[in-house]
Amino acid sequence: MSEFALIRRYFAHLGAERADVALGVGDDCALLNIPAGQTLAVSLDTLVSGVHFFPDVAPEALGYKSLAVGLSDLAAMGADPAWATLALTLPAADETWLRAFAAGFGQLASAHGLQLIGGDTTRGPLSVSIQVHGLIPTGTAIRRSEARPGDAILVSGTLGDAGLALRHRLAAAPVASELQRRLDYPEPRVALGQRLRGIASAMIDLSDGLAADLGHLLAASGVGAELELAHLPLSPSVAAQVAATGDWSLPLASGDDYELCFCVPAPSLGNIASLAAELNVNLTQIGWIRAESGLTCRLPNGERLPTLPGGYDHFRTD
Ligand code: ADP
Ligand code: MG
Repeated sequence: MSEFALIRRYFAHLGAERADVALGVGDDCALLNIPAGQTLAVSLDTLVSGVHFFPDVAPEALGYKSLAVGLSDLAAMGADPAWATLALTLPAADETWLRAFAAGFGQLASAHGLQLIGGDTTRGPLSVSIQVHGLIPTGTAIRRSEARPGDAILVSGTLGDAGLALRHRLAAAPVASELQRRLDYPEPRVALGQRLRGIASAMIDLSDGLAADLGHLLAASGVGAELELAHLPLSPSVAAQVAATGDWSLPLASGDDYELCFCVPAPSLGNIASLAAELNVNLTQIGWIRAESGLTCRLPNGERLPTLPGGYDHFRTD
């Protein structure tokens, strides 16, 4: 199959058909109309075989997750997903693989009203880069930099499930299907992100672990925080692991949660319970922002966690 037949067959019509796409896949550029009063939000992520996913990953899961990580970035700004471009490097044009990859991508794209509008296809070691584009009413994006002392810190969902799945897999231990699902099919919190416009002062999505990602938000805002570890939302399996080992690194420092961590000024906290019920998502207050810099974690016995586990860093050398 030629490169162009492959693109036409699997990528020419993926996801939603949007009225703001004047020209999609097939020409030198896509042509997109940005509605008046909207600002474009753009983010790019690359997933490399053997680094971000196991080489034997199911292609459908890879197609899904490559888009999900981008949607999670859009969610973290409060953006509405609109378009994506896809750069795919493949060792071979395996049609069974391509069909499954496109199905995983297309299913999630359609669910969020996003259209694939272009990309690039090359031969080489398997890697996937996706650029997502979202729209935000101008002036309403939720940045990392606007958290203020006294704001509550909240997270969605539960923390550490994907990390536990990864830990089991690396130890060649069996992985429970609900944990495997958290690793392979993370649910980007797009609707939550949108609804937090005008409510959250600052927000970040959790891709590298709560301590590291919240650390980025604190640094950008020039503030510090105190967390109550007893309040971290944990699934039964992660809670059991923490209880058995006394080690908090799963919820604090494992990657791939793709939950939202956000700050809410006290006057807006009253909106949170009804929002959680409406969206059917767990929203938990885990601490608060303070003026003094640094991140302090209180153990359930009231003592300070002595050292913070770090997040994933591709270039760390120690
Ligand atoms: P050019 O050589 O002009 O850069 P390409 O030959 O790379 O164009 O791509 C032809 C068309 O197919 C373009 O519209 C491009 O955006 C699209 N395309 C290529 N690869 C993909 C892909 N993996 N997914 C979606 N669209 C793609
Ligand atoms: Mg060209």
